[in-house]
Amino acid sequence: MNELLKKSATEQSKALRSKEISAVELTTAAFERINELDEKLGTFNSLTKETALETARKVDEKIARNEELPLLAGVPLALKDNMNLAGSRTTASSKILENFVSPYNATITEKLLNNLVPIVGKANLDEFAMGSSNENSAFRKVYNPWDLKRVPGGSSGGSAASVASCEATLALGSDTGGSIRLPASFCGIVGMKPTYGKVSRYGLIAFASSLDQIGPFARTVEDAANLLEVISGHDPKDSTSLNLPVERYSEHLSNDIHGLKIGVIKELMTEGLSEDVAKAVERAIDDYKKLGAQIVEISLPNIKHSIGIYYILATAECSSNLARFDGVKYGYRTPNAQSLMEMYTKTRAEGFGPEVKRRIMLGTYALSSGYYDAYYKKAQQMRALVTQDFIEAFKKVDILLSPTCPNTAFKMGEKADDPLAMYLTDIATISANLAGIPGLSVPCGFDRDGMPIGLQLLAPQLHESKLFNAAHKFERANDYYLQLAKI
Ligand code: GLN
Repeated sequence: MNELLKKSATEQSKALRSKEISAVELTTAAFERINELDEKLGTFNSLTKETALETARKVDEKIARNEELPLLAGVPLALKDNMNLAGSRTTASSKILENFVSPYNATITEKLLNNLVPIVGKANLDEFAMGSSNENSAFRKVYNPWDLKRVPGGSSGGSAASVASCEATLALGSDTGGSIRLPASFCGIVGMKPTYGKVSRYGLIAFASSLDQIGPFARTVEDAANLLEVISGHDPKDSTSLNLPVERYSEHLSNDIHGLKIGVIKELMTEGLSEDVAKAVERAIDDYKKLGAQIVEISLPNIKHSIGIYYILATAECSSNLARFDGVKYGYRTPNAQSLMEMYTKTRAEGFGPEVKRRIMLGTYALSSGYYDAYYKKAQQMRALVTQDFIEAFKKVDILLSPTCPNTAFKMGEKADDPLAMYLTDIATISANLAGIPGLSVPCGFDRDGMPIGLQLLAPQLHESKLFNAAHKFERANDYYLQLAKI
């Protein structure tokens, strides 16, 4: 492997600018790495070599002309395969979209291309982003680069594994209930879910529209902050997009955090927490004390309901969003139907995998007349209570802290037959989506088997600067971020 692939985006940018390597060489090196690991890891659904090299050539031309380069120009990036890149396949890891070619770019894709970021491929995921282990992909599983017997986390498992294994330096994922933060923690990298509305969802295949948000993966906090800067901003094509100026997160990364008030979420430090994760989080708390932060305990009494609330709202929204996949306009259509109704039912029965079907059925039930008030309406009311818990907490503290997940990456197959056990892995991440607040996972150590542990930080809406600052300070007080998966 080319040693530069192991470096951060910031360092790669420097190497490009100083002509130590050309963008075409760096991108080509990334493809060599991908080819070397493809069978072992299963990270990508498809590669977009032509687009990537075309972008890299543009970077090299600019460098040759001594022109100013955009922030992350020339740094190889993996796109989760539920985001559109015109002319490439966008499958959401589902049979129903197996041969679907995007006719247009997502807004984030447009921004990446304008910033000359080479997109190397479309990363594998749980079908329609539903899952926590990437075992729900209709095509193949993704393996954790730290231990090939374990899952990388989901649903953005391909994105996380690509960055952890240095196939790509950056990646984008989508986070509806933890799908960026969980795989980031399982793969020992940084993953960040922005405030709802910060990043345009135009061109992202919708799962649960009131919860979905696109965000960055990287091996350093600084790289994640820079990537968010590139992809965020108002977009008239997404009616939930916030009309606010793009922030310069990198300018605040090194701010002093003396006196920063950090609340440790009481409910996430007790039940079901693995001993090694608990120890790592305690160590992180000590590190923050040394950095001058003030630590207090905070209770979020309604957080225990968040999984129940999420699995009503997310399934209700997905049952509606996925109604469009009916074989009429695009995607898979059953070849053996005698009537229109049979065409619909067979297309969906043959095209969707078991987890997606389970979600559609749960959501349809929760929205059905007679049950709507008992389930959907109640869940909406409870969502407001969870949000209120955060509003109260942030009156007392600047940011909140918890483990990203009560355990580290589990073995392949361990939870595959037990949906409830799988759903429980999201206990710490889901509430941030319900409240629309930003959350980040940063590496904070390893368990007894050498598997990475993630620390979750949460901030009030629109305070991503504070989040990046606190995470960067912690990251640089340790060397976890310098330890890479040995693969
Ligand atoms: N694991 C959660 C689910 O299965 C979250 C997925 C996500 O954030 N996309 O729904």
